[in-house]
Amino acid sequence: MISVEEARGKILDFIKVLDKEEKPLLNCLGQVLAEGVYSPFDVPPQDNSAMDGYAVQVKSIEGASYEHPRILRVVGEVAAGCVSGLKVETGTAVRIMTGAFVPNGADVVVPFEDTDEVDRKQASISRDEIGVRVCLPEGSNIRRRGEDIAKGGLVLEWGRLLCPAEIGVLASLGKSMVWVIRRPIVGVLATGDEVSEIDQHLQPGKIYNSNSYSLAAQIISCGGIPKPLGVARDDVKQLTTAIRQGFDCDMLVTSGGVSLGDYDVVKQVLAAEGDISFWTVCMKPGKPLAFGMLKRNDGKKIPHLGLPGNPVSSMITFELFARPAIFKMMGRGSLAKHNIQAVIEDSIENRDGRRIFARVAVSKRNGKYYASITGHQGSGILTSMMKADGLAIVPETTKQIKPGTTVEVMMFDWNDGGIHEKNK
Ligand code: AMP
Ligand code: MG
Repeated sequence: MISVEEARGKILDFIKVLDKEEKPLLNCLGQVLAEGVYSPFDVPPQDNSAMDGYAVQVKSIEGASYEHPRILRVVGEVAAGCVSGLKVETGTAVRIMTGAFVPNGADVVVPFEDTDEVDRKQASISRDEIGVRVCLPEGSNIRRRGEDIAKGGLVLEWGRLLCPAEIGVLASLGKSMVWVIRRPIVGVLATGDEVSEIDQHLQPGKIYNSNSYSLAAQIISCGGIPKPLGVARDDVKQLTTAIRQGFDCDMLVTSGGVSLGDYDVVKQVLAAEGDISFWTVCMKPGKPLAFGMLKRNDGKKIPHLGLPGNPVSSMITFELFARPAIFKMMGRGSLAKHNIQAVIEDSIENRDGRRIFARVAVSKRNGKYYASITGHQGSGILTSMMKADGLAIVPETTKQIKPGTTVEVMMFDWNDGGIHEKNK
């Protein structure tokens, strides 16, 4: 038996980062940047107002107070988006809106609420003049040119994961097309004489193909593009044809046919199509696993991961082995899922010294996480995955975990959108 880490290490050794593609900005969400992005200009491009108010000179409002406002002559107005030739001199003011460029000569913006603007309006007094009721320090309410991003500076480095804020920053630089590491296309093939397509009438002795769907959904959730290859019978010819249909993919994932007691067709076909090893991994569920490189006639090799057929085992082995492989192909910096510490509320027995990944629902009470088993842990009970938020990990050497013990839980949908990657 090999450990989970050993299996993962052997798999990742064969996985390479994919090539890059250039695509429209919004389509790059969740992908990794394949270029360094420098700012072609200052952001913001000019000093602009952070408030609606009056652009003035500090000199003009020295000593101003509510009782002793400074009366300034209003020489015009600038709205956001307009370029004005207005100039502010001592004793004058320009009415200015948030985001509008600060006119020449002004060194401070006084918000409306610190002027007599409203009183003048209500009393229908001329607004050719304005009374300023405060004295503000120079630069108040002015966003300085380049204060967010300076021209020529590296804004986003090669290898950075693009989350919504990165997409926004790239947009602020006017970058509509972006180079990113492309998403892998992952072939998904189910195997088994008993497995039926989900749009067929269920014949006696058959079960529906749930694996291809949970696996394809997992592929999508970690950024890959699934290529459905249907269900192959346990028949050499059919299976060979089906596997070869995945030869244009970046990786092929199959489910079923790799356990010890299986009718050997799947293993036989896989072994004939490349260098495939059949492992028993020291974990529960999901002991049997196949991995290797399938060989095309033109010599190109495609990584293949043969997951166990039991629906829970196939999902869990995907999380542990396929997800990191897909992340690596996408150039992601962190391949691990987020683990938390939680107090287990049930007892877990470990009878055969494997690492147990127990399906648990996680809740938070009084600042502490608690994990409780989601019912029957059979590897065919797919609804127990549906109820789970993560997998509680029982080490190989631990014989029993008693309620109240703190365990590590690998979370499924923790927002791992780059938390580790950005903080690494
Ligand atoms: P195997 O690994 O092929 O021996 O399959 C183990 C168990 O998983 C058997 O009970 C199969 O019926 C079941 N199984 C295999 N493939 C699928 C599939 N695509 N969808 C749902 N169950 C499956
Ligand atoms: Mg089978």
